[in-house]
Amino acid sequence: MKLKLDGWDLGITFAAAHFIPGHQKCARLHGHVYAIHCEIEGDEGEDYMVMDFTEIKRFLREIADTLDHHVLVPGGKGEAKVDVEDDYVKVSVGDKKYLFPSEDCAIIDVPTTSAEELSKFILSWLLSRVKFPENVRSISIGVDEGKGQGAWVERRAK
Ligand SMILES: [Zn+2]
Repeated sequence: MKLKLDGWDLGITFAAAHFIPGHQKCARLHGHVYAIHCEIEGDEGEDYMVMDFTEIKRFLREIADTLDHHVLVPGGKGEAKVDVEDDYVKVSVGDKKYLFPSEDCAIIDVPTTSAEELSKFILSWLLSRVKFPENVRSISIGVDEGKGQGAWVERRAK
């Protein structure tokens, strides 16, 4: 049995700017409205539910709010070199250099801020906060970059 949470329908969305180093078009700074989706697969428990998803929605809203209206900066090992200096974040990618106010940035531990890497980051973030019951077999996170296009990642529970 599957539980499905649709970020567009639930308003679990965020608007953010990013760039994808090495990509012809997406290497330029640009923005998207993103939605975060979640699917939970498992058996019904004694309460006839797979699990109460109220908590999942709360955490997904929390991460969406954290990223909302920020520049997504890839802080992991990737092509972009990121230095935090005083109140500024310096990002160097090849010949390009960006200087952003720290308060405008969300530095995320990913090599690049593709939908694929964002979905993996959000799934890890969720798994570190939510204790899933024994009957849950797998948890998936989807991140859409605008409606109709996105990346999904799945992880087995435990
Ligand atoms: Zn993009």
